[in-house]
Amino acid sequence: MKQLIHAFLAGLLLPVAALAAPARPNILFIMADDHAWQAVSAYGEGRHLIQTPNIDRLAHEGMRFDGCLVNNSLCGPARASILTGTYSHINGFYNNGNCRFDGAQTTFPKLLQAAGYTTAVIGKWHLETDPTGFDHWEILPGQGIYYNPVLIRQGQRVRHPGYVTDIITDLSLDWLKQRDTNKPFMLLCWQKAPHRPWEPALRDLDFDHDRTYPLPDSLFDDYAGRGEAEHNQNMTIANTMRLNEDSKLTVPPDLSPEQKKIWEAYYDPRNEAFLKKNLTGRALTEWKYNRFMHDYLGCIKSVDDNVGRLLKYLDDTGLASNTIVIYSSDQGFFLGEHGWFDKRWIFQESARTPLLVRWPGVTPAGSVNKDVVSSLDLPETFLETAGLPIPERMQGRSLLPVFHGTTPADWRTAFYYHYYEYPADHHVRPHYGVITSRYTLSHFYKPTVFEPEQKAIANIPDDYWELFDREKDAGEMRSVFGDPAYAAVQTKLMQEVFRQRVNLKEPAQDDPKAYGSPAR
Ligand code: CA
Repeated sequence: MKQLIHAFLAGLLLPVAALAAPARPNILFIMADDHAWQAVSAYGEGRHLIQTPNIDRLAHEGMRFDGCLVNNSLCGPARASILTGTYSHINGFYNNGNCRFDGAQTTFPKLLQAAGYTTAVIGKWHLETDPTGFDHWEILPGQGIYYNPVLIRQGQRVRHPGYVTDIITDLSLDWLKQRDTNKPFMLLCWQKAPHRPWEPALRDLDFDHDRTYPLPDSLFDDYAGRGEAEHNQNMTIANTMRLNEDSKLTVPPDLSPEQKKIWEAYYDPRNEAFLKKNLTGRALTEWKYNRFMHDYLGCIKSVDDNVGRLLKYLDDTGLASNTIVIYSSDQGFFLGEHGWFDKRWIFQESARTPLLVRWPGVTPAGSVNKDVVSSLDLPETFLETAGLPIPERMQGRSLLPVFHGTTPADWRTAFYYHYYEYPADHHVRPHYGVITSRYTLSHFYKPTVFEPEQKAIANIPDDYWELFDREKDAGEMRSVFGDPAYAAVQTKLMQEVFRQRVNLKEPAQDDPKAYGSPAR
């Protein structure tokens, strides 16, 4: 009894801070633009395109997610969904053509800010309206440019000499150094790289020493076994990728005279050798693929180096132990699979995105999660982590138990996907469907025409469905929809699509503005 009284009195004498809950973690959310999981070496699969040691560090010291999906694989819509935790038909940002983000709606940065976090977004925003919910914001106008970019600092345009990935990181570090240290922080460091036109840092131009890259098996895909949408898209390396700015036969306009010299010293002799060869057909496509890989991966080299700088800052300042570091991309990207670049499709290269999470003491080091998760789950995760209630409107689910290594028994097994923008740049038909750990079911539908300029939509053929068994067909090359052997799976997944459409409050007909501007 005496001991108990003693312990009780000792408890009363403890300083208040020691009795309080542990400090809420900081959040550093690094997001790249169009960074394919195939180009993160931690994923250890595929063609061994590049080493990303700094990004990999998050996998070695934290958790790698192998099944992270986005709900609408396009820059603006993906970002709107990440901020709001909602699908496009709820947040209103369907496409990159005619949508403006409604900054009055609920976002996780706003809720964290109101709950005492100091918040900032630095880098690519691409949502057409000014950021809301941030103590500090410094964003590229629209897509922004790679060399000597302008950033808009709380409304004021400032040009920064140098390379965009370095600059976004410099500005992120500057903000971290002068932030209000009485509060936990939430920083969105959202890189522009490696988005088209794939312009690497000048110091990295020779990073691969003229390596020849392994070709994807489906570079010369003929789309047999699939439908009209695959046949009539406009996103092939062979036909859509342009030789000038895409393949660097022309010099980017933004370089200073000194920078231009470095650029030309690398590209000019290689371009001359290419032009002398007069390549055509498959040889030309292979050359374009290799130039694309050089430029795209060169951009990723700088992203990785700059992730290293941010991690070093967290180490040096002792912040690492109480900071959740997230590395992800707004969506995936085709690196020649099916002959394509770009994204948009429900297929794995596009709808799946890298997600690596390090939270010391929570995410087991070197762990791998294969559940069906989504970047849509991140807002709820951040809110639960901060001890905040989850708004009813949000449509993901907190990953907090998953971070701890214990996925709830009733975790989702199928994720709903819906892409709208059409005909737009790449002529990918609107489609929706579900993705499970084994199957992808999709419906390419005939959208209702709402506006005269969207007449092209009226001329597309009737709707059709596709089903891919990725266990037997990892590359999603042959639809088995209608195959009697898959009848039961097909019925179950179609029921799942319609169940999710109701649950997610999808309207029977799309919003008139969902498809965006006509072809540009
Ligand atoms: Ca993107």
